[in-house]
Amino acid sequence: MPVNCSAEGCLEAAVASLDECQVCRTHFVTGAYRHLESVAEQIQEPSFYSQHGELATRFLEQCMREVTNIACAAEPPDNLERARLLDILLWASELYGRLRRGPRVRASIPILVRSEDEQKPWEEKADTVVLSVHGFCFFCRHELHSGDILTCIRLDNGHRADARVAWTRSKDSGETEAGLEFITDEDFWGAEVSVAAPVFPARDR
Ligand SMILES: [Zn+2]
Repeated sequence: MPVNCSAEGCLEAAVASLDECQVCRTHFVTGAYRHLESVAEQIQEPSFYSQHGELATRFLEQCMREVTNIACAAEPPDNLERARLLDILLWASELYGRLRRGPRVRASIPILVRSEDEQKPWEEKADTVVLSVHGFCFFCRHELHSGDILTCIRLDNGHRADARVAWTRSKDSGETEAGLEFITDEDFWGAEVSVAAPVFPARDR
């Protein structure tokens, strides 16, 4: 026997579960948007990751799974519903990716970056622009390529880590903006990552 939607006064059949409630398509869409909005708002706070990260991750996983189920159901959604479901799926996966990468914060920490390239070793002092638990981005005056391995030394406390260049972007100034991912020390920044200001772009909704 089909289960009815648990939203008050709704007589539609339940097709998905949200927050441990069985809901119809319409109420899934409205409920999912409400949840996503609240995650998107709170993810701006670095403390969100430690306090609600796990719960939010579970919600987003379930949300993505249910959207897929609804889209593949015997009774297919109409065009408008399909567009909303796709929007929910994209938004959920974007937030999910952000959660997995951890908070990114804007912070200027002096570092020494060193390339142990056998042909042409070099080192350069720089300041970080953005930090995350897994890496950072900065502007480099030397040529960099994706995959290059660099040694990074914090000039404020001497901590050292190896990092891989994840992406590069040439600037008009001649410098290269580069994103680095740590391969040795995941705790390179320590508490800095959680105290500086987060830099997620706000999403208009
Ligand atoms: Zn309903």
